[in-house]
Amino acid sequence: MKKMGANKEFVFDNFQSLLSECKSLRKKLGSANYSERIKFHKWMEKRQKLEITEDDCYEVELEYFDKKCLKQVIQIICNELLKLISPRKRKHAQKLICDFRLPSEKLSWERLNSVSSSQSLPIEGKNLCATCAKKISWWSFVSKNIDEQGNQFCSHSCREEFHHLICDKCNVKIFDTPYYINKEEREGIVCFDCASTKCLGCHKTILHSSDYFQKLLLGLEREKTRSSHSENYFPFCKSCQTKKISQTEEEE
Ligand SMILES: [Zn+2]
Ligand SMILES: [Zn+2]
Ligand SMILES: [Zn+2]
Repeated sequence: MKKMGANKEFVFDNFQSLLSECKSLRKKLGSANYSERIKFHKWMEKRQKLEITEDDCYEVELEYFDKKCLKQVIQIICNELLKLISPRKRKHAQKLICDFRLPSEKLSWERLNSVSSSQSLPIEGKNLCATCAKKISWWSFVSKNIDEQGNQFCSHSCREEFHHLICDKCNVKIFDTPYYINKEEREGIVCFDCASTKCLGCHKTILHSSDYFQKLLLGLEREKTRSSHSENYFPFCKSCQTKKISQTEEEE
């Protein structure tokens, strides 16, 4: 295909039309019952289009109105995509969606919905449920489904979904302290059962190695791991490990 000469007018027209496309899509999807998956694919199509449009204007210096328009497009696409993802997973998903170095084809529904964070991200907007983005009805105002942070919810189940911790590996609700795979960002929530294992030497309960957790995090993102090294992993507690090492040294 011949590459179009990117001039400023062309860029602006492109952004303008994409913006009006996004606005009408938002209206269309809001008015009828579409499944989350369909909504997801529709918005990912727009993200892809934005990628291409951005490529086209690679060498053009953007004017004020272009930038403003582009910002609006990005905002709509990101917000509408985040509405489809549960509150605990939004932080991680947001990072991926808003990173335009990541091509849309690599952002599957599974990948965006895989890693939880300690903090839930509410849907912003007046009188919208922080979890499902539904408009809050007068009944919810009466029943006062509001949490300590001021987030409003349309129902009890949305309130629970916002606050409950679910293990990313086994999907079971966590009641005690969760284990975070990425401790700094407090991401990748796993329950005690999934975080621990038994030492092969003495059968004491121990935590999996950090290597194991890193691989688990990649697995949660559904990225293909190049090797099957994770299968050759033998857990030993510290004292059994030192015993093993000194044994093999004696043998040598
Ligand atoms: Zn709700
Ligand atoms: Zn678990
Ligand atoms: Zn041991």
